Amino acid sequence: MDSESNDQFKDGCGVMGIIGHPEASKMAYLGLHALQHRGQESSGIVSSDGTNFYREVAMGLVADIFTQDKLDKLHGNIAIGHNRYSTTGSSHIKNCQPILVDYALGPLAIAHNGNFVNDSILRDQLEAYGSIFHSTMDTEVMVHLIAKHNHGQLLDRIIGALHIIKGAYSIVVMDEKNLFAVRDPAGFRPLLLGKIGDAYVVASETCAFDLIEAKLVREIEPGELIHITDKGEIKSYHPFPKAKISSCVFEFVYFARPDSYIFGHHVSEIRRKLGRELARTTHVDADIVIPIPDSGMQAALGYSEESGIPFDLGLTRNHYTGRTFIEPEQSIRHFGVKLKLNPIRSVIAGKRVIVIDDSIVRGTTSRKIIKMIREAGAKEVHMRISSPPTSYPCYYGIDTPSRKELIAATHSIEEITKYITADSLQYLSIENMLNVFGENSKNFCSACFSGNYPIEFCSDTKTRQMRLFE
Ligand code: AMP
Repeated sequence: MDSESNDQFKDGCGVMGIIGHPEASKMAYLGLHALQHRGQESSGIVSSDGTNFYREVAMGLVADIFTQDKLDKLHGNIAIGHNRYSTTGSSHIKNCQPILVDYALGPLAIAHNGNFVNDSILRDQLEAYGSIFHSTMDTEVMVHLIAKHNHGQLLDRIIGALHIIKGAYSIVVMDEKNLFAVRDPAGFRPLLLGKIGDAYVVASETCAFDLIEAKLVREIEPGELIHITDKGEIKSYHPFPKAKISSCVFEFVYFARPDSYIFGHHVSEIRRKLGRELARTTHVDADIVIPIPDSGMQAALGYSEESGIPFDLGLTRNHYTGRTFIEPEQSIRHFGVKLKLNPIRSVIAGKRVIVIDDSIVRGTTSRKIIKMIREAGAKEVHMRISSPPTSYPCYYGIDTPSRKELIAATHSIEEITKYITADSLQYLSIENMLNVFGENSKNFCSACFSGNYPIEFCSDTKTRQMRLFE
């Protein structure tokens, strides 16, 4: 299912930045609208007219927050924006981004997608030296490090702060005349550069460019920091030691929009290939292949193409169930998935059905969906998952539940099959998943499937021993 429909998860975020456009905040708004799937908890835009800064942030969805009235007050040619579903920091208005602060050199605003893995250690150290935090967001640590870095211009300070920070980040920073965009050296999260007329734009995914008719210039490289001035000059820096590229494979499996291009690949194409690979490696005789909308769509098409088993739409999705839907108190548990999905009986009845989804996390969604499909008269239900078992939590910006809540961490495939009441269940192997990327297959983080974490987290002794302010 798509992220909108699954409240229990905490997703990463979407970021957007634009400079040199007379309607910067409106472009940022449209970009954020296209990036809504990356976070539905809160949204915000900061803009500047070269003298003053304007900020609007609120809990909720982009289209609900930014009225014409509010957008009209976000003046200026430069803006950054952010959609959030917390990966660190609780769900609260004070944790909304972009963060806007005044420091020694004036105002600056910052928006971040990812997760700093040494955040808590840095926070402890900063607090020990007198820093006062206003939020529980890891991003605020960066703001403090920029402010404490007491020499050079903003560019030097951003670089200084990021030399201390470890983890996953795609970040946009602005002051009144400059836009900065930076990706961590491992390139965990996407960030791309586009152009619209004379204006430059950066965004988490290309679907944001499509909406505002911006042209993709290129991806910002892992470990690259670009500085765009209000004169339209772009400078590129590679200030960090090189690291092994570890882009998030789950962006392709589930998180990114299928119409986006990230990490050198079209998301839709990769999902389709994952489906083909799944069909090749997990064959079963059946009458139809159906996706769980929307996340299983491309993989199911690929599965059907490869297996020759007809594709059909056996489940319909209601797109209008927002978070505010009121359910009768007694029956909340009964509705759940039913609010979003309903089987199409005429497609399913009497058939042996292969159901495709991108992942199983806790297992509750698959269980409910299979029950529905059986009630609609399916003869057999075979579940196929276009990724390996999700067995480990992510520490780099996709907030999966804790390990003990991940069904694949504590149960065998036979046990999961029984729990979700499928006739059979098979996943894609890690190797087959990575195969679809061809020569790039080594450039991915698949820690949520393998437990091989490319960057050390929590007990980061080096950061602990680091003396920040000597
Ligand atoms: P579950 O019931 O916990 O097994 O949920 C599985 C469903 O959640 C699948 O349909 C996935 O598409 C979806 N899903 C997987 N990862 C996430 C995530 N990080 N955020 C929201 N939904 C997700």
